[in-house]
Amino acid sequence: MSDRMIITNGSVVTMNDAGDVLFGGAVAIEGDRIVDVGDTAEVLARHPAEGARVIDAAGQAVLPGLVDLHYHTALGKGWSDHLPLWEYLETCWYPIIRALDHEAAYWAALASYSESIKCGVTTVNDMYRQLGALAEAAEEIGIRAVLSNDVADAEHNLDTLEDNKEAFQASHGAANGRIEIYIGIEWLPLASEELLRDARLLADELGTGIHIHLNESLTEVENSKQRFGRRPTEVAYDAGILGRNCIAAHCVWLSDTEIALMRETGTQISHNPSSNAKLGNGIARLPEMLNAGLNVGIGHDAAECNNSRDLFEVMKFASLIHRASRVDSSLQQAPDVVRMATRNGADALGHQTGRLERGRKADVILVDLKSQMFTPLMPENKAHLFSHLVFAANGSCVDTTIIDGKIVMENRQLTTVDEQKVLSEANDAFRRILDRMVVPPTNLGGCPAKPSRPAISFPQLPRKGVFGPYDPLPGAGRPGCLSRRRDPDPGRRPRDLRRHHRRGRPAGCHGGHGPV
Ligand SMILES: [Zn+2]
Repeated sequence: MSDRMIITNGSVVTMNDAGDVLFGGAVAIEGDRIVDVGDTAEVLARHPAEGARVIDAAGQAVLPGLVDLHYHTALGKGWSDHLPLWEYLETCWYPIIRALDHEAAYWAALASYSESIKCGVTTVNDMYRQLGALAEAAEEIGIRAVLSNDVADAEHNLDTLEDNKEAFQASHGAANGRIEIYIGIEWLPLASEELLRDARLLADELGTGIHIHLNESLTEVENSKQRFGRRPTEVAYDAGILGRNCIAAHCVWLSDTEIALMRETGTQISHNPSSNAKLGNGIARLPEMLNAGLNVGIGHDAAECNNSRDLFEVMKFASLIHRASRVDSSLQQAPDVVRMATRNGADALGHQTGRLERGRKADVILVDLKSQMFTPLMPENKAHLFSHLVFAANGSCVDTTIIDGKIVMENRQLTTVDEQKVLSEANDAFRRILDRMVVPPTNLGGCPAKPSRPAISFPQLPRKGVFGPYDPLPGAGRPGCLSRRRDPDPGRRPRDLRRHHRRGRPAGCHGGHGPV
């Protein structure tokens, strides 16, 4: 097959500095690069159709591929997802990823990446384990992947910096540079300052970036103040973690000082509003971050806490939640949100993607406009098109996904993997890992201590109890109020949390907020 491709007659949403949308536009691709963008007739005059694969995009919008800036491959979702995060981490997430093997990670990654590709995501910034399996999956399915380990202090039995270094040496730059390895830090409550400093030293030694969960919850902030005497961003700053090649995920409870530190260091922010909302972690100060000039992209986080990998849904959330909370419909206009999901994410990772411009990497998606989602649509009306992309569309509008100049989905059919086999194998892997995983005898959230699959089965969980959101204690206010989310012992570790919970906790008290 020719390595030349010309997409013609589309509504080309360039996301360039001028914000151009070219109606009746074309994008010419050679190999992995965009070589021309412009009016269809003019592009065809410069790049003859003969010998090229020509895709007629009439009735379609042509956009840069979406960048999911905070991502975890996920094996399970909708599984005990009623739990507050720390308890979920203790009883499900950590046991699952501790039981993970190469094969399960491979199928989980393919299942995750395939959903992302079908929703127009061309780049994932994926923190998980078994990076060899993830790199294999990314190479095979064709997605652009920045992978990092789940590094924590040794006592937590997750990954080490040495694991991350080995992954870097094995896979960084693979698949024509589509696969990169960053250093991943799970989060501050599982990290010492020494580990943070060593992470920065290793990243600099390898010449790569850092991916970290930072300031996700009030609990994390209090934990940081107690353990380190400072807020999370201040600790990260002192350890040298922050910087232009650092992706800080969440950043929900940033103080003004922390925003200033982010700005000073040029740290990249991943805003994950739907995850933050689902886990009751709060609403990030996005308007203040943007006013400070921070570069902010968006991420879905993980299927366990979202529960879909549809970045169109996250885009909508990234606008509406701020309008609602600030009582201000002028916030987060549609073009601003699309910019976050494309060029901001690409810039955060230092990628030559995120814009449809000559010389950039050919990560391109085609969005079908011939549907109810995009009706009515005024011809050649840029604002109307942006509005529908953010407020009306979902990932099923994506018809074709091109990554690094290769078509990985066409007419909504994946071209590189057998989709049904991926789904079947991912299901099998999930069941196999559940049988193998060891659930700590926490009895949290009504989860029986027995370390077996039924032990965390959703139907067995109580609908009432100290963890249930339906039975407020006498005198308690509406579930979820911030004052009651503060834990009486903010410096506690997970084991302390369990004691706290056995004592009884107000409804809506999501005592633990950690990273997923
Ligand atoms: Zn996360």
